[in-house]
Amino acid sequence: MYWIEESLSESVQQLDDGFERLGDEDSPFLVRGGEERRAEAAAVHAERPDAERQRDELTNEPVCRDLAKWRDDPLATDFPHVDTVACDVLSERARAAREYASRNNYFDRLDETATLGDGKYGRYNDGEREIRLDVSERPFLAQSRPCVLVHELGHALQHALFAPDSGLDEAPTLFDGDPEKSEAIDLAHRFHGPFQTYPESDIDPLYESPVEQFAYVFQAAVLEPEAARRIAPQAVERLRTSVVERNAELSGLFDAVEPE
Ligand SMILES: [Zn+2]
Repeated sequence: MYWIEESLSESVQQLDDGFERLGDEDSPFLVRGGEERRAEAAAVHAERPDAERQRDELTNEPVCRDLAKWRDDPLATDFPHVDTVACDVLSERARAAREYASRNNYFDRLDETATLGDGKYGRYNDGEREIRLDVSERPFLAQSRPCVLVHELGHALQHALFAPDSGLDEAPTLFDGDPEKSEAIDLAHRFHGPFQTYPESDIDPLYESPVEQFAYVFQAAVLEPEAARRIAPQAVERLRTSVVERNAELSGLFDAVEPE
């Protein structure tokens, strides 16, 4: 499942420097706008040596919206949408992940033009083994096609590898102790922003779901492997070893794919 709960549209913040952000944390997937500052940063970026610039664009370092600070050491931090991993690179990594999943028969159908409504962008149905995407609107990079597709492929793969005969909900909990669990939750927030909470009831927020934690860690490990290992080293390692144990071929999924 992949959505922005309606009440969370209130969590979009207008920042002083012209950027807009979903939630309180600077995630490269949840920042948009800031065109004026971005143009200044892009001009600085264009002056960098080609090889350094291209290498930098393949990895996500911590986000820095302070132009002067970023400019001091652009390899240590990333200016949003300037030297962060671009959507076409994410698309290439998503395409590779989809190929692994198709080749191994981890899903039966992929509907890229579904209408899901209610702020939902993607859904995996374990009964039909079907992935449905509704990415016609894209509020932030987090809801772009490659991000949503890889998240749903994560659900399909978890179902096929860990709970093929029962439902996905019966998949074993992978991150059951800290720091793995808190790391997985950090990655969930990186792609989702704030989650709906239900203070008056006993419903858990979505990030508490072991199935969702798997999908968010998978998503990060495939789309931005360096950042995933920096933010969540133990959760990523747990996921990688558990997946590769079941299918050794899948180890290639976690090597960042570079565009041709
Ligand atoms: Zn999900």
